[in-house]
Amino acid sequence: MLQALLPSPRSASLRLAQSASKKAVVGRSAFVLQQRRGLASEAEHDVVVIGAGPGGYVAAIKAAQLGLKTACIDKRGPPGGTCLNVGCIPSKSLLNNSHLYHTILHDTKKRGIEVGDVKLNLQNFLKAKEDAVNSLTRGVESLFKQNKVDYFKGSAKLLGPNEIEVTGNPGEKDAILKAKNIIIATGSEASPFPGITIDEKKIVTSTGAIALEKIPEKLVVIGGGIIGLELGSVWSRLGSQVTVVEYQNSVGAGMDAEISKLTQKSLAKQGLKFKTGTKVLGAEIDGETVKVSIDSAKGGKEEVLEADVVLVAIGRRPYTEGLGLENVDIEKDERGRLIIDQEYRTKYPHIRVIGDVTFGAMLAHKAEEEGIAAVEYIKNGHGHVNYGVIPSVMYTFPEVAWVGLTEEQVKATGTPYNVGKFPFAANSRAKTNLDTEGWVKFIADKETDRILGIHVIGPNAGEMIAEGALALEYGASSEDVARTCHAHPTLSEAFKEAAMATYSKAIHF
Ligand code: FAD
Ligand code: NAD
Repeated sequence: MLQALLPSPRSASLRLAQSASKKAVVGRSAFVLQQRRGLASEAEHDVVVIGAGPGGYVAAIKAAQLGLKTACIDKRGPPGGTCLNVGCIPSKSLLNNSHLYHTILHDTKKRGIEVGDVKLNLQNFLKAKEDAVNSLTRGVESLFKQNKVDYFKGSAKLLGPNEIEVTGNPGEKDAILKAKNIIIATGSEASPFPGITIDEKKIVTSTGAIALEKIPEKLVVIGGGIIGLELGSVWSRLGSQVTVVEYQNSVGAGMDAEISKLTQKSLAKQGLKFKTGTKVLGAEIDGETVKVSIDSAKGGKEEVLEADVVLVAIGRRPYTEGLGLENVDIEKDERGRLIIDQEYRTKYPHIRVIGDVTFGAMLAHKAEEEGIAAVEYIKNGHGHVNYGVIPSVMYTFPEVAWVGLTEEQVKATGTPYNVGKFPFAANSRAKTNLDTEGWVKFIADKETDRILGIHVIGPNAGEMIAEGALALEYGASSEDVARTCHAHPTLSEAFKEAAMATYSKAIHF
């Protein structure tokens, strides 16, 4: 899919030639600026990475490991980008600990455990999240030191194709870095909802939603995608009445339709309310309340939902503010994604782009893979990311994880296929854990039995999907997985049994 979206290398090199004359002019203007401001001038780096998110920091470490003199710049200060600071990591801390709290409150009696007065200390609950974030961002800083990556905590602006101005680096003079190669990894930001003003207190993006100082009595979530369902789950478990308003007729932003239905059913059982096929018309703060007006997506009777807090989670968009793209004239597509070729090159072959700011899934592990591949292209002339095998995990309860194609996507290709399924209700470990909700679903080519997609909703789905990714990466058949011995009693036996059900029959169901 990515390849279809990328311009051909031929068109990239054509544009490169056209831009050659502009290059010299921009380079000279940077020099004049540097002279005028008396900026500190750094020795030339082989690679300068802009952005220290999962894409950027991994690229910087890999470049240094390959013997390239490397710098990395991030204006946030602590490295780790969106993921470590306000994304994957803090949200997973909240998801894990809210699940534990909810389990202790509602799910211990049947296990023969009686607990007394259970209380939530929201301040400490949020501190546990901060502790996880701080320890991981500090870890990245020490990896930078260990690998001799020069880390600049400032804003980067491209002055020309080989020069980057760094400003606001605490305790340091503003500087101009010269770079033989540049990797842009500036990530993404929450997409705004036209007409709705975010204050990060009452109308919040995910950044506000992971730091609420009070449990909202009523939370309205706009967008039933991954962020909406994960953070909606967190606050629902802590006691909020959560209503998810989703424009599409299903939740889960593109997950397999059957799994999406099961997910919605399961979350509804936990107390989340859903308004799918529903359009949000606007949201306004009225005293302590936020009024959200909604309508059926097809048009109909307008309704107003009242909430203490509204989370806007309708997707993310590439972030390039202040990057100085105007100085190098790097192109964007209609969605703001920086245009690159198959080797992550812009029209300048030495300026590459990876992660959320360009094409493909906005996922941390996808950005990391691209970081390594981009550096390998620089050092060795070749790199590799298999875009058909990027797993997705939604860390709700039960977790939902998938890799490869959905059944709808397979159907659309016209390839005849087999589906094999196995329920956790028939898995011995799930039974001992009293945690039996969910299924494993395999989709394989009918003729060759090659696995096309794997979808799991259930306990530890996020860990289990790694086996699926490995199977797809090696082009395994469902029989290959079915004939691989899996330890007993483990949840992974459900995985093996779903594979058995795909090419033959499951034993225990
Ligand atoms: P980012 O992580 O966004 O990093 C970009 C960095 O560039 C930022 O730190 C920014 O400060 C810096 N920067 C930008 N411009 C400049 C400039 N001009 N100068 C200097 N620095 C600059 N993905 C998953 O795979 N799993 C998850 O569980 C998951 N959970 C998420 C939960 C939430 C709430 C959110 C919001 C996202 C989540 N994601 C998750 C998505 C994930 O965070 C992103 O896909 C990932 O961070 C992208 O990495 P990146 O390196 O491309 O960019
Ligand atoms: P998303 O694309 O996952 O979901 C956005 C949802 O909002 C979609 O279902 C869409 O139909 C809906 N929507 C869009 N406009 C709407 C409107 N006007 N009214 C109502 N609904 C509307 O985006 P997200 O949940 O904001 O997440 C952003 C990115 O971050 C995603 O790419 C996601 O992969 C990534 N992320 C990943 C994880 C994870 O891997 N566990 C967790 C959080 C975020």
